[in-house]
Amino acid sequence: MNLLFASHNQNKVNEISALLDGKIKIQSLNDVGIFDEIEEYGKTLTENALIKARFVFDKTKQSCFADDTGLLVDALNGAPGVLSARYAGVEKNADKNMDLLLRNLIQNNNRKAKFVTTIALLFEGKEILFEGFLEGEIITEKKGNAGFGYDPIFLPKGFSKTLAEMNLEEKNKISHRAIAFEKLKSFLLALNNVS
Ligand code: IMP
Repeated sequence: MNLLFASHNQNKVNEISALLDGKIKIQSLNDVGIFDEIEEYGKTLTENALIKARFVFDKTKQSCFADDTGLLVDALNGAPGVLSARYAGVEKNADKNMDLLLRNLIQNNNRKAKFVTTIALLFEGKEILFEGFLEGEIITEKKGNAGFGYDPIFLPKGFSKTLAEMNLEEKNKISHRAIAFEKLKSFLLALNNVS
């Protein structure tokens, strides 16, 4: 089975191809010559995933999927949410994003937060959604150097180290993205009747 992933990010394509164990062949937008920057104007992660997947389907008429991830902080009414990448500005700087989040939570005792990944799959005329989430809390200073984004300030529930203090294998056992993609994988493999 071939499936088009609505992303230009080769790292993500590799990560997801590995997760799908080579049983489903993933192509990126670069592979099919789509170089447009898809505008993510949705108000929710689900809307953004659907916008990206529909854009690619309209252009190619091929089965495809898109994902969108955000960090939702309870005390900030779900911010940064869909704005996670550009919370502190359009340059999408992870350090500045974390600094702003820490400032916005100063002296706030409610540190509860969760990462959410939504995947929209457009397949045989249907739109199917998959979701994975990881609950935890925002600590008061950055810890660890691994990972990316908000990993250094996110302490997953039940763990004593941040996502940035975990290696990729440890993170992938619990991460929002891995959980959502496992759901996509189970769905596709069941359709394909392979295990
Ligand atoms: P995307 O939808 O996967 O591009 O994620 C949007 C933004 O959410 C990223 O630019 C990061 O700021 C943040 N983010 C997504 N996934 C993670 C993660 O696993 N750890 C930390 N931050 C993340």
